Amino acid sequence: MLKKALKDPWQAVIGLEVHAQIISQSKLMSGASASGIGDANENVSMVDAAMPGMLPVVNAQCIYHTVRMGLAIDASINAVSEFSRKNYFYPDLPQGYQISQADKPLVGEGVVHIDLPDGRRKSIDIERIHVEQDAGKSLHDKHPNCSLIDLNRCGVGLMEIVTKPQLSSSLEAAIFVEKLQAILRCIGACDGIMARGSMRVDANVSVCYKGKAYGTRTECKNINSIRFLKQAIEGETRRQIAILERGEKVLQETRSFDPVTGRTHAMRTKEDAKDYRYFPDPDLLPIVLDDVFIDKCRKSLPELPDAKRKRFIEQYSLSPYDASILVSKEESATYFERVAAGVENKKLAANWIVSVLFGVLKKCGKALDQSPITAEDLAQLLNFLEKKVLSSKMAKDVFQLMFETGKSAQEIVQQQNLQQVTDEEEIEAMITTIVADSPQNALKAKDNPRIIGWFVGQVMRRSQGRANPAIVDKIVRKKLFL
Ligand code: ADP
Ligand code: MG
Repeated sequence: MLKKALKDPWQAVIGLEVHAQIISQSKLMSGASASGIGDANENVSMVDAAMPGMLPVVNAQCIYHTVRMGLAIDASINAVSEFSRKNYFYPDLPQGYQISQADKPLVGEGVVHIDLPDGRRKSIDIERIHVEQDAGKSLHDKHPNCSLIDLNRCGVGLMEIVTKPQLSSSLEAAIFVEKLQAILRCIGACDGIMARGSMRVDANVSVCYKGKAYGTRTECKNINSIRFLKQAIEGETRRQIAILERGEKVLQETRSFDPVTGRTHAMRTKEDAKDYRYFPDPDLLPIVLDDVFIDKCRKSLPELPDAKRKRFIEQYSLSPYDASILVSKEESATYFERVAAGVENKKLAANWIVSVLFGVLKKCGKALDQSPITAEDLAQLLNFLEKKVLSSKMAKDVFQLMFETGKSAQEIVQQQNLQQVTDEEEIEAMITTIVADSPQNALKAKDNPRIIGWFVGQVMRRSQGRANPAIVDKIVRKKLFL
């Protein structure tokens, strides 16, 4: 669909603002629980409810995780940053303003690398990461004639990661968000679960003639799945191209994506920064970070996805493609390393995980942690394959049975008597019988080499597919021509 919409001379320009809920027991400015569980309005402190005279206190954990995320994307960390009030009226925001950061964010420019399916790597520049409070929720479907407010989410700490407008397709945007998810999860700063709202994306989209000045953008708010993100970008690109092709102008506005129709619709014309009347929050001192703290954040970082990818390529000789897929989720990287520990051929292990296992899991809509085949079971199967106990075809069949029954490769091979026959004497005995049964064919084989194939087929049938075809071929030739 997008390909069609993006026919020359059009080019899509996309910049994302990603809100990631920071993992912490309490909210950004109060001691109330940030867990999100509990009845409506159960986790609301006086600060969150904006009672007069209440004072905010910054949650150090939120600063710690945001600085760590900054370091994880090679960003500059600002030694001095500042909280500002972003003023707007909304029923689920009792303060009448959101505590956010304006021109002095905690984290400055950084970079995220994405791996595209055609093997290209692209670097997406990050403009900034700032910290801010989440808003509450308005509930419009709980009461017949009024809306209700739940403030449990009000004041929960978010980090907002803002890209430069450097993404050029819905696919790149999706891969970028998946990469952020992988990094955030890897460092333990956010669970990245979009379906639960722990990660939400605003997509800024504009279109222009290839190589010409950027067009007017629209912003599609609060997208909560990768699939919707792709649909929203594609729909918005098509809509804007249609407008421009009619000779009209795209309006700068905030839109919302409707998953039911797959279209975006206008919410409001875009506010300017001046509409929010930002000013430094007088209740909060600037955040001043020293090198000791930043160093502590840096030392706390685990091996990041990019470093892991590099290591997989070097240590296990994986292709960059397999390595990128395996590191894109912490659990696949761990699974791979557990399989690799038990097999000689690491590339074979990667290949089976990426092409065979992931393929089957995808087909039945299961995640890796629901796989009936454990890493150790897969390693055992691949050992049978490496040691030629099973042929490649048999290994695929055993794999399928393992997946369906949860049994180990060993159990299935034993129960079904599946071992590949590699014993030359056993194979030779079979061939002797077949030659004795069809002496005519044996004679013809001298003039017609295609008959060899017929003999090999007979042995395969007699052994129920278990004979090793290479050995059968070798012995058939020996028997017939000697
Ligand atoms: P605001 O704070 O008003 O949303 P910003 O300048 O911070 O404005 O930009 C927000 C987002 O919009 C960024 O992710 C940026 O990359 C993106 N953006 C800016 N210009 C364009 C454009 N012409 N097309 C698409 N995205 C854009
Ligand atoms: Mg914006």
